[in-house]
Amino acid sequence: MMLRHLIAEQVLLDGEFTPAHLEVLEGEIIRIHRLSSGEGRRRAEIVKASDVGAGAGMTVVSPRHQVLPGNVDTHVHINEPGRTSWEGFATGTMAAALGGVTSVVDMPLNSIPPTVDVDSLRIKQQAAAGQTFVDVGFWGGIIPGNTAQLRSLWDAGVFGFKCFLLPSGVDEFPPVNGVQLREAMTEVASFDGLVIVHAEDAETIERATDLTGRRRRLSHYADWAETRPHDAEVAAISDLIEAVRETGCRTHILHLASARALDIIADARAEGLPLTVETCPHYLCFDAEAIPDGAAEFKCCPPIRDRGNREALWDGLREGIIDAVVSDHSPSTAEEKHRGAPDLQQAWGGISGLQVGFSAVAHEARLRGIGIETVSAWMATNTSLLAGLRRKGSIALGKDADLVIYDPGQTNMVSAAGLAHKNPISAYDHYEITGAVVGAVLRGTPLYTAQDTTSALVPVGGFLQGLGSPELSALRR
Ligand SMILES: [Zn+2]
Repeated sequence: MMLRHLIAEQVLLDGEFTPAHLEVLEGEIIRIHRLSSGEGRRRAEIVKASDVGAGAGMTVVSPRHQVLPGNVDTHVHINEPGRTSWEGFATGTMAAALGGVTSVVDMPLNSIPPTVDVDSLRIKQQAAAGQTFVDVGFWGGIIPGNTAQLRSLWDAGVFGFKCFLLPSGVDEFPPVNGVQLREAMTEVASFDGLVIVHAEDAETIERATDLTGRRRRLSHYADWAETRPHDAEVAAISDLIEAVRETGCRTHILHLASARALDIIADARAEGLPLTVETCPHYLCFDAEAIPDGAAEFKCCPPIRDRGNREALWDGLREGIIDAVVSDHSPSTAEEKHRGAPDLQQAWGGISGLQVGFSAVAHEARLRGIGIETVSAWMATNTSLLAGLRRKGSIALGKDADLVIYDPGQTNMVSAAGLAHKNPISAYDHYEITGAVVGAVLRGTPLYTAQDTTSALVPVGGFLQGLGSPELSALRR
């Protein structure tokens, strides 16, 4: 049953909670009535009396619950086709729906083939068709030799192009060198596209690994993290900023882990360079000192760093230097995660947390006195601006009715086995979170509600198309 009317005491409108009645038609928000406190019940009676049949399409949300825009996660590795045993469209997007993420943008690598030309994009779309529970879009990829493919990929609807400056972890998605990077950025700038970069410097990591002892087994997380030091991020980001200066290409730094790069990013912005940056829930929720030895479920690249760094990333968010928070959901099988155990060097690098990311960040934010409306800006509004998803990211007229119902008072202990991800491995296992997603709506279709958790989700997700529009400048203003 499609949603026609939603009435709630706490609806996030223009950054503030207010009582409101949303009218929805065919998945779009067509009218917003701001109400006075406690007016909801009477309003529901009026709607019932005036709109025949509205009873079935009307939802009156509990006054304890908050209505937020659906989150937009622009950094997700679904891995299908090719590595579907790691994650797939059905399981990945169900996890997203249950976690309050109503749009995901899938990364071009770890699936086989990687999304580096239009043919491989079509293969991916065919694999996804009919089995997604939320809306799904796709990033393209930059690898050596595919510059001529980028324009056609952009025209086919990708949101931008990912590249690596060091080995990605999978052979079929090789990194680019400085010359290749600039060539690709010049091409992407010619159609005002977006380049998104895994920024760690290979040489710095080689040197650090030599110092740590290449043949030693590293089971202590902080020891392994030293092989991918802060300097590797700072050096790569410095070079990248220079390339942005040379090419003028709109550029986004993926999964920033080191707070030591915040100053150069802020300086580049002050200079007017078109640069944005994201971080991830695991860098905000965990610190290296507290991770048990050999716990490969926490291995990710760049690594989780120390407690001081974690708090400095929170400062970077507060100050608006970091624009967005995304899951970088990058799961694998247990076999890949435990390869060479307890040596962390051999384990697959990637954290599984799509279903947990939003509520975990909201929980940690609250502990630091930051409200859910600010978290929503990082995880819904700014991510949709980054990708140019004009219909997503906030509750406003003409936008898709993508909504999350959030219960700030509910406390749960995460069980990795209880998550919808394909593999029951997650850094968030046994992590206690206050605040829970209890319902979600995708383009007017309720996916599930707190009152109705048993009904089977229906795969009503569709494909998102990149618009190629420079809304990034709106984000920067
Ligand atoms: Zn990633």
